[in-house]
Amino acid sequence: MTTGPGRVSLGPPTVDTGLAAPATTTELFDTHAHLHFPEFGDDLDAVLARAREAGVRRMLTIGTDLPSSHAAVALAGREPDVWAAVGVHPHDAAGADEAALAELERLAADPRVIAIGETGLDFFRNLSPRDAQERAFRSQLELARRTRKPVIVHCRDAHEETLGILAAARVGEIGGVMHCFSGDVAIARRCLELGLLISLAGPVTYPNPRALPEVARIVPADRLVIETDCPFLPPQPFRGKRNEPAYMAITAARIAELRGEPLEGLAARLSDNARALFGIP
Ligand SMILES: [Zn+2]
Ligand SMILES: [Zn+2]
Repeated sequence: MTTGPGRVSLGPPTVDTGLAAPATTTELFDTHAHLHFPEFGDDLDAVLARAREAGVRRMLTIGTDLPSSHAAVALAGREPDVWAAVGVHPHDAAGADEAALAELERLAADPRVIAIGETGLDFFRNLSPRDAQERAFRSQLELARRTRKPVIVHCRDAHEETLGILAAARVGEIGGVMHCFSGDVAIARRCLELGLLISLAGPVTYPNPRALPEVARIVPADRLVIETDCPFLPPQPFRGKRNEPAYMAITAARIAELRGEPLEGLAARLSDNARALFGIP
């Protein structure tokens, strides 16, 4: 395949070989993947093999409703470098009744579950009513506090409301990540003030990345993590295709370039940040 005109410094462009060279000594942690989704049903072993070859040492697979949270826990139980988060996505918040939340709490007791989420607000698609989204979000923040696990926050076109709920829940005491950060520098600073980590995904590599390059530069070194959100949001050379953890090397290289620091040191530090938040070795 060919690359876009703006891509000059990330190594060979081919799908097959472009990721191996910079990645072998780079240690990456994909803090937000959906590896248990049906998109990976046919070739998950190959996807995981490519991830490991590309330096992705740890992956967190994220539940979005009860069935997918069960699937995430099952996958994490099979793969030593995959952990699970359990939660109900704002799209599915209408189904987050008391029984569902009780089941989530049972699942959260599994030793492979290291976070609650993804949860939050999505006023872009509004697939669940806003009041149901807010209720499910608050309940999962309480669950995160009770289970002493950090929270994975999803926020789209709802920054004011999301930050308000996070502040009221004193998320800094719980710990958490603003995943696939999509706001501007001012919102990034507010997330940092609340005590959240900021996670950047493939969109930082896009030709029109909005405020994301500036965000990548200003987040303190100990507050940044990285993710794929696969199968969604592949980095620029793979747009239009299914995303997978191996492609995260491209996003990491772009962030290193933006911050003006070597990839290996940055990647190791981002992994350290994630391991510290999630409490895993
Ligand atoms: Zn999300
Ligand atoms: Zn996600």
